[in-house]
Amino acid sequence: MTTLAWVIPSKVVASTTFQPNTITSQQSLRVTSKEISDKLLLADRNRRDDPLVYKKLLLELSQIKDSFNVEQGYYYQFLQGYLATYRGEYDLADNLLTELLTSSANNLLRFRANYTLINVAAAKKDWSDGLRHIALNKEMLSLIKDEEHYQVSILTTMMFYNQIQQYNLVLNDVALIKRENLSLQHNCFVEQLSLEARMNLQQAKPDDESIDAALSICINAENKVYTNIIRVYRAKLYLKALKADKALMTLLPHYDEINATLYPMLTVSMHNILANSYFKLDNLLDAKKYALEAVKANKYINAFQNTDSYRLLYLIAKQEKNIDLALSYHEKFSEAETERLEGEKSKYLAFKLAELQAFEHEKQIKLLNKENDFLAAEKVLSNTKVANIQLIITVMTLIIIMLTLGGARLWQSHKRVKVLSEYDELTGIYNRRHFTQLAVSTLKYCKTAQQDLSLIMFDLDHFKKINDTFGHICGDWALKETIRVCKTIGRTNDVFARLGGEEFCILLPSCNIEAAVRLAEACRAAIENTITEESGNNFSITASFGVTDVKRSGFNLEKLLADADFATYDSKHSGRNRVTIYEPETPEISESLEGSWRVAS
Ligand code: GH3
Ligand code: MG
Ligand code: MG
Repeated sequence: MTTLAWVIPSKVVASTTFQPNTITSQQSLRVTSKEISDKLLLADRNRRDDPLVYKKLLLELSQIKDSFNVEQGYYYQFLQGYLATYRGEYDLADNLLTELLTSSANNLLRFRANYTLINVAAAKKDWSDGLRHIALNKEMLSLIKDEEHYQVSILTTMMFYNQIQQYNLVLNDVALIKRENLSLQHNCFVEQLSLEARMNLQQAKPDDESIDAALSICINAENKVYTNIIRVYRAKLYLKALKADKALMTLLPHYDEINATLYPMLTVSMHNILANSYFKLDNLLDAKKYALEAVKANKYINAFQNTDSYRLLYLIAKQEKNIDLALSYHEKFSEAETERLEGEKSKYLAFKLAELQAFEHEKQIKLLNKENDFLAAEKVLSNTKVANIQLIITVMTLIIIMLTLGGARLWQSHKRVKVLSEYDELTGIYNRRHFTQLAVSTLKYCKTAQQDLSLIMFDLDHFKKINDTFGHICGDWALKETIRVCKTIGRTNDVFARLGGEEFCILLPSCNIEAAVRLAEACRAAIENTITEESGNNFSITASFGVTDVKRSGFNLEKLLADADFATYDSKHSGRNRVTIYEPETPEISESLEGSWRVAS
């Protein structure tokens, strides 16, 4: 970010009050107050539609800023803050707009500064800050008469809520804003944001008439970006409903139009969906082509959509038996996935923190009964500005608030946040994210101490059939039962985790390959012998296992996982319900661990 190129005006406002018909600058410029106001207004009008004119007008205004009155100075500062947002100079934008927010500028200007700050926070991924501005926006709404800005502020909030995955809140706002008199353009925004939320809440089907209605609204509004976002959502829904051909039919006729928007989120999503659809249709060539296009389009944004592309490229390379390439894509996938999960956790924590702050805020307002709500909200905003979204600080803040209020309730809530972020909800074992963290530190330790370590991976066999025949609830029961029986076999310090779906792994520190294979074999037998009558159905469960250790795969988590995955894949291919040891062509570490502990299971 090139913040240095911009100097924050120390006091745009305090200098002079305008005196009509006096010479105010060295260039002997004579400007009337009305001319200044007109120019400010003109700049404001061009703000979104014509950035070049906007920049030019701001430059002209900067040369006569000594002639501004106080209100004009504030207006100018807002426009500069907006320009900084537009140019991606978020720190500068943050400074200018936050200063304005706590100034004595009029309500509308401060309202606009505040909702622009929601966007700035989203761009900076400062979720806590964004939520604070949303809270303030809600406080200020009742004071705002201007329809346009009232609506834009709600649309901004909805966009933010979608980003932090608070989809129910988006739908609340849809209900609120639908009561307003919406322009075609705003109507199109609402439709798109609402569909995004419904889709994520699993409330949308690809053939829904509401999607046709949303499309025709956005086409009418001539909004190419939003029209195509809706098409991408529909294609995504088709893909999820296993109708890959329909997903292709939804997007391919608009391929050029979508590329022409130059909107990275859109082009990346489109290419990912096309790639996945072709993959589902066993067309590896086109799948690869579009996945690589997605990676290319993604170069310009730091979006986590790369997880999709790399996962697919990994699967393709695996099918083509290109082991080195598969491994390298797998590493990239893991990296992107870890980043995505970290991002999700910070969003979730920020939201919980905001909830706690809202609780504290309510108490504060009750205490300050006489002070009006608006001022109190503002105070909370500036007082808590120091809170950072960094994980540690967030958790510390939670603890501090908890101690201050001394509430057991809040401690419970904190514990819930921790439990939710570490454990898989269905099976109660570690989730992938937490497994990755633990595994990385365990590997580091074992490497330094030169100790053995093994990894077992397993995947239930024909699990889809269990779901299809006996239903999802029975499938869930089978997953839980599998974990229950395996847990009784492992040691207490084994790290047992659900990597996703019906795929699990067990990290075994200080355990050689023979012991790991014995353990895997015991799990395999226990799963095979599961008595399923208790579920109300009679069926069999089996799983395919892959085992590796640091002698074969080294102390690298990605490689351990990828190698165990290959071995699992071999088990599947040679008939399922078996344990396969990964056998590399050249062992990673040959003799160095011979003297390490041998711990039997
Ligand atoms: P394979 O032997 O080759 O592994 O075949 P499979 O059917 O087990 O593999 P596939 O990957 O095709 O299907 C896995 C299924 O697991 C698909 C998905 O619907 C189901 N699944 C994933 N997570 C859950 C879950 O939490 N609950 C239930 N009930 N099913 C799940
Ligand atoms: Mg399976
Ligand atoms: Mg699977």
